[in-house]
Amino acid sequence: MAMQDLIKLIQDSPRVAVFTGAGVSTLCGIPDFRGANGMYRDPNAARMFEIDLFDADPAFFYRHADTLVYGNSETRPGPVHLAVKRLQDVGKCQGVITQNIDGLHERAGSDPVYAVHGSAAFHHCRSCGKMKTFEEIVAIRAQAKDGVPRCSCGGVFKPDITFFGEMLPEAAFYGAMRLAQSVDLMLALGSSLTVSPANSIPPLTVHRGGKLVIVNAQPTDYDSMAEETFTDLQEFADAILANF
Ligand SMILES: [Zn+2]
Repeated sequence: MAMQDLIKLIQDSPRVAVFTGAGVSTLCGIPDFRGANGMYRDPNAARMFEIDLFDADPAFFYRHADTLVYGNSETRPGPVHLAVKRLQDVGKCQGVITQNIDGLHERAGSDPVYAVHGSAAFHHCRSCGKMKTFEEIVAIRAQAKDGVPRCSCGGVFKPDITFFGEMLPEAAFYGAMRLAQSVDLMLALGSSLTVSPANSIPPLTVHRGGKLVIVNAQPTDYDSMAEETFTDLQEFADAILANF
C-alpha cells in the first residue's frame, strides 16, 4: 500500500480514530522514554514517575521533570499533531487516544483527547485535593525555593500524570476503549505498542471488524494484525496536510 492508498482508505472510512505514542512528540524535540535517546537511559529519570518516591521526596520529581514536563510550555505541536487536528476539522477523526503526557494534542486544539496515561494539564494537592492548572503550577514553582509547588494547606501538588503504582485514569481509558470499538479505521502513530494495558486499545478496532494501520519507525508486535504499516511519520503528516 502506498501513502496515497492510505489517504483513500481514510477518505472511504466513515469513522476514524487516532492512537499516538512518543514518536509523534519526538518530532517536536521531546525525549522518548525508551528510544535511543530515551529518558530511561538516565537512571535517575527512570524513577521520577514512582508514586512512593514522589510522596517521600517530591523535589526529586520536580528536579527531573523540567525536560519532559515543565520545559514544554514553549514546545509547539508538531506535524503529526497538526495533521490529526486537520483530520478532526474535516470530520475524518472521531477522537484522539494518546499515551503521551505532554498535552500537545490538546494544545493543537484536538478534542476529544483521551490521555490514557494522564497529563500535566491539571495538578491536584496530595493532601486536600485542590486543583491547579499547568500554568498556575508553573507560576507557583517560580516562587518556590526548592521548585516544589505547595498548596495553601501545606500539601504538595502532583501532576495528573499516571505514576507507576497509581491507577490509570478510568474515564479516559474507558472512553478510549469505547472509541476504538466504534470506528472503522484506527491509525496507530508513533507508538511501539509495548506498554500494557494501553497497547490493548488499538486491537479493539480490529476485534470489532475495523482496520488498523500502524505508522511507526520500528516494527511493532501488532504489525501482523495491521492492514498496512508505514515507518515515516513526517511523510504521513505531509500526506494528510496535503490531501485534507
Ligand atoms: Zn491542599
